[in-house]
Order: sequence, then structure tokens, then C-alpha cells
Amino acid sequence: MQKELQYNQTILRRFAVLDRKNRLGHAYLFAGPPGIGKTETALAIAKLVNCEARREEMFCDACPSCIQVNTGNHPDVFVVSHEGGEPISIEEIRELLSCNKLRSFMGGKKVLILKNIESLTLDGANAFLKTLEEPTAETLILLTTSTLETVLSTIQSRCHVIHFPFFSDHDLAERLNNGHGLDTHHSRVYTYFAQGSLTRARQLKEGRFVDRKNEIIDEFILNRPSDARIKGLLKDEEETKRLFNILLSWVRDAMLAKANVQDGRLVHQDRLDDLSGFVKKYTFEELKNLNGSVVKMGRLVADKLNIKLPLLIIGEQLWRK
Ligand SMILES: [Zn+2]
Repeated sequence: MQKELQYNQTILRRFAVLDRKNRLGHAYLFAGPPGIGKTETALAIAKLVNCEARREEMFCDACPSCIQVNTGNHPDVFVVSHEGGEPISIEEIRELLSCNKLRSFMGGKKVLILKNIESLTLDGANAFLKTLEEPTAETLILLTTSTLETVLSTIQSRCHVIHFPFFSDHDLAERLNNGHGLDTHHSRVYTYFAQGSLTRARQLKEGRFVDRKNEIIDEFILNRPSDARIKGLLKDEEETKRLFNILLSWVRDAMLAKANVQDGRLVHQDRLDDLSGFVKKYTFEELKNLNGSVVKMGRLVADKLNIKLPLLIIGEQLWRK
């Protein structure tokens, strides 16, 4: 996947402007859901502030400094990464802080990147707070979290908090297509169901979600499933949720198609023939009612209540046609 498609360009540009005006702060906390480019943006900023051939507001990605960041070998860029939810230990913080005391090797800025700062132990946090309180012009601290509410308020208050927006469907599709060679039909499915998260979109792709959603369309929407199949589905919470989400997207597509909305906006672009066959059997009013029933069922699913009866009522509208 191309690096420049993973970071948030708007936020990078903001940093470039601050840096150029010499107004860069000491510590920033990047907050937002997993998979939206927080770490990639932090690394892009590390490249930007150290680039030896910077052009306007962009790093060159080719000078020795940029290459060292890309390969994880830059002597002034430190990354502490905890993916599995393990706490960040005091030892790691001490090591990081001892690096912080040294002068920059390359003469640029030292950049300390701590991922998932919410997993800092209390000891670690206390040690780290000192660094946050004693800024040096040479050091830039970039922290990330996907759960801002669990980050110690003493840390939050010493950082500029930057909220990362979800990817738009367009940006997400671009990122998926550039790196994965998906066709546009499938990327539309992934962007819709990933709800702005690149990590989620990748997980869906790895789990062959398109195949599974098509199975559900064939088994539950276009045909009447067996009673045993319905029973099996209702027992499995994850499968019930998946059915609800797919059903909702299908009925919404049907309403859009009935209203002659362009195909590009539909989720199930890989099933346009089936969709138009489905749409022909209903009036717009009937589709609206069906949508209402599905939304009601969704509330029960969210509350983990039994959805057998509402599902059968929806089934009546689907399977008798
Ligand atoms: Zn460079």
C-alpha cells in the first residue's frame, strides 16, 4: 500500500504550516478510532520535520532522513508501540526518556511516538509526565489513542488533542483500491460496512465479507430459508447482527433504485440484476414499510432481544413475493 495514502493529509499540512511558522507545540495527542491513519500521520510528521530536501509543505520521501524513518532506523525518531493491549512499562518509558535527554543525532528534531497511550501504567505515566512538563525545543512528542476517555487527564491536559476524522467513503475506497486491486463494486461494499475505518475495511476483505453477504442475500432475502437455518441464525449474535446490517443495506438500495438513483450510490453494485428484479416486485410504499420493519428489528438486535417474530414478519414481506 502506498504510504501517502495512509496518513491524513489535512493534518500533515497543518503541521507543515505550524513548523514553517516556528509555532509547533511540544506534545500532541492523536485521538480517533483504530485504522484511520494516526500512526502513519505521526511518522509522516517525523519525516516532514527532519526531511533534508523538503519541498514546500511536503517531505521528499527520498533523502537519507526520510528513508531512515521509512525503514525504522532514524536515530532521532523513537516509536513505542503496543498493539495487543499490553501495558507500556516504566522501563520502556525510562529508555525513551534517556533518549530524550540526548542531543539530536542528525541535527533535526527528535520525535517520540507513543502508540496507544491509554495503556501506559501509572508509574510509566508519572515518569512520562515530567517530560511533558519540561518541553525542549528539540523534541516533538506524538501520542495516539483510540480511546481518549481512558487517557489520564494529566496527560491530556499537557497535549494538544487532535481528533482524527473517519475516512470518507471516497478516501477509503481510494486507499483500498490502490493497495488491494479491488474492483469498484466490491470496494463500495467494504467502504459501506467499514464505516470509515481502514482497519475494519481490511478485516472485512480478509474475512471475504462480500461472499458472506451474498450468501445472506441468496439464503435470506431472495429465498425462504429453512426453519432450521433461521433457528441457527438466531442463536448466533454475530450472525444476527450481520443479517440485520445486510438486510438494511439491501432494502435501502431497493428504495434508492426504485427512486432511480444512480447505481454509483448503491451498496450492492455486484448484485444489480438481482436488485432490479427485487425492486420490480414492490411499490415504493411497500419498500418504505419494509425498511421501517427492518429498522425496528435493528433496535431489538441492538438490545440483544429476541428477533424471531419481527424476522418472520419481515420474511412475510420478502418470501411471499
Ligand atoms: Zn526527505
